[in-house]
Amino acid sequence: MRLKDQVAIVTGGARGIGRGIAQRFAAEGAQLVIADLDPADQVVRQIVAEGGQALSMPTDVSDRKQVDAMVAQVLQRFGRIDVLVNNAGITGGNGLFHEMTLDTWRRVLDVNLGGVFHCGQAVARAMIEGKTRGRIVNVGSINSFAAEAQAGAYAAAKGGVLLLTKAMAVDLAPYGIVVNCLAPGPILHEKTAPQFQAEPLLSGISKSLPLGRPGTVEEVAAAALFLASGECPFLTGTSLLVDGGQLAYLRFD
Ligand code: NAD
Repeated sequence: MRLKDQVAIVTGGARGIGRGIAQRFAAEGAQLVIADLDPADQVVRQIVAEGGQALSMPTDVSDRKQVDAMVAQVLQRFGRIDVLVNNAGITGGNGLFHEMTLDTWRRVLDVNLGGVFHCGQAVARAMIEGKTRGRIVNVGSINSFAAEAQAGAYAAAKGGVLLLTKAMAVDLAPYGIVVNCLAPGPILHEKTAPQFQAEPLLSGISKSLPLGRPGTVEEVAAAALFLASGECPFLTGTSLLVDGGQLAYLRFD
């Protein structure tokens, strides 16, 4: 029970990686708040059925008013926030750089980077006010470090998440708040499975990852738990790649 009685917000926890993180944190004793654009009733029901504690607070992380209202509601209910996982994101292709629409650019930046700013700032203020030695985990990507085709907005946002993590870690260190970036590679779940389990991605993944397979949400959740637990209080401003060795691997065939 590494998060026993700790209040944790996971954004984008209604499905995919965020859902896996929410379920693992709840199993570790956290009082979970899932802040997703969509209601997370199904996840909440499952967590509660398994003996955990969770609430769904539908929120658009790109909308500052909604974020402030969600954080105020969490504080009213629990009186504190110990952990924030900024996981919500828009995934998928953005089109070729020279063809990308302004709407795509703006929306991906607003959600994937703006969401980290809004939730991070609102929660950091609450942690400072409550003198909580909190942990913030920002979900980046292998695209925080390297671009791929038709991912200009996504890569720009995820690169921003990595540097924003460092800036947050520096400014929040005097308050005992640690901030780290969790950077997954290809992760299999209900939404990604149809792509990752079909060609051409299936053979691309098996060739480009030393481990030869995509990761699982449980594997990402285990890494998120390590960062959120504060088990290593000296760890801040850094990133943890959970990518099956993909970025460690230069392959020329
Ligand atoms: P997903 O699309 O399955 O889930 C994303 C969740 O975020 C959804 O529940 C969605 O409703 C929510 N969301 C989207 N916009 C939102 C908004 N404006 N406000 C609140 N919630 C919003 O994606 P995923 O694969 O689970 O990815 C989760 C995170 O992990 C993202 O930040 C993504 O960039 C990152 N990531 C995923 C992979 C992967 O292979 N799946 C790899 C690297 C990084």
